[in-house]
Amino acid sequence: MTHTRYSVAMEYDLFTAALHGDDHVAELPDVAPALRPSTTFEYEEGGRTYQRMSHETTERLEAVLGVLEGGEAVAYPSGMAAVAAVLRHVRPRRVALPEDVYHGVHAFVYAEAARGSWAVTSTEQLEAGDVWWIETPSNPKCLITDLAASAAEAASRGAITVADATFATPILQDTLGLGVDYVVHATTKFIAGHSDAMGGVVVTAAADVAAELRETRTTDGAIPGVLESWLTLRGVRTLPLRVERQSASAMQVASFLHSGGFQVWYPGLKTHPGHELAGRQMAKAGVQRYGGVLSFEVDSADTAANVLSRLGVFTNATSLGGVESLAEHRLRVDPAAPPGLIRLSVGLESPDALIEDLRQALTQ
Ligand code: PLP
Repeated sequence: MTHTRYSVAMEYDLFTAALHGDDHVAELPDVAPALRPSTTFEYEEGGRTYQRMSHETTERLEAVLGVLEGGEAVAYPSGMAAVAAVLRHVRPRRVALPEDVYHGVHAFVYAEAARGSWAVTSTEQLEAGDVWWIETPSNPKCLITDLAASAAEAASRGAITVADATFATPILQDTLGLGVDYVVHATTKFIAGHSDAMGGVVVTAAADVAAELRETRTTDGAIPGVLESWLTLRGVRTLPLRVERQSASAMQVASFLHSGGFQVWYPGLKTHPGHELAGRQMAKAGVQRYGGVLSFEVDSADTAANVLSRLGVFTNATSLGGVESLAEHRLRVDPAAPPGLIRLSVGLESPDALIEDLRQALTQ
């Protein structure tokens, strides 16, 4: 039985959507989502049959993410699984990647190109049947791509746009609303938000496309597990609140580093090449916010390693978007990163504690 508390068509604000966007798909009256691990269900006319096809927790997560992003969401067990699923679905002739892009996406696109799945091209050469892969803000330099202009340009050439909005989340940027064909998020990051659940999502405005993605997901066996979806659902409830604070703290941390004379990559700073565009594009809730991730550069790889070894509040670890602040010497995982680049993911600690931690690590 479905307990309908809110109408599906109701217009939600972001805070309310994060909490109630899935009320209409809740199957039990429990206030907190039930954790139901069953892989199989007693046959019932019109009922669920098997967890690989659908289960309540992932449907609830998809409902929330769909309302937040303004489309139909299809969830996957990791961000990379979502990336692979969308490209497999589109089956492009060629893929154009931006200059600064998550290294896992770069590796995947080139590995598949080597296997003959598609060719790699540049944005200038895009033609019908090609994919323009966008990542904004990008990993790790937070470079900003104009979503509306790129979507219009791609559409005029018959190309398809996919935007990875993991850094922006559905809170800061109306990615789908700006006209791209598909939005991807690694929910592992801000959306789940607690460094304890892998996941990814593809969002499209077209319900029939979402249905096709779900069909392929069933045959591929790529639905997220109950626990991961449950943790992600629990995380997303506080996403708007976390992103607000993380953005405000990141702004303070970025300003501190900038005033220390470092090259800082944060779109909230006037010195960032994407500042003006980000100010227009990352203002979904009517307030300009620039996200919880930034990078800065020290003079060498050795200095970067030393700084990381001295940090006490920031944990020296990869990943981003969680409640605890992380710092990473990006060269460890990304051979294309500048040697002295340190990426910071700002969590929920006090900005004063984070700045003090950086101050002592940089001045020792
Ligand atoms: N996209 C971006 C921008 C990322 O930063 C990451 C991971 O860091 C991914 C996609 C891949 O996500 P996952 O690690 O969940 O596969």
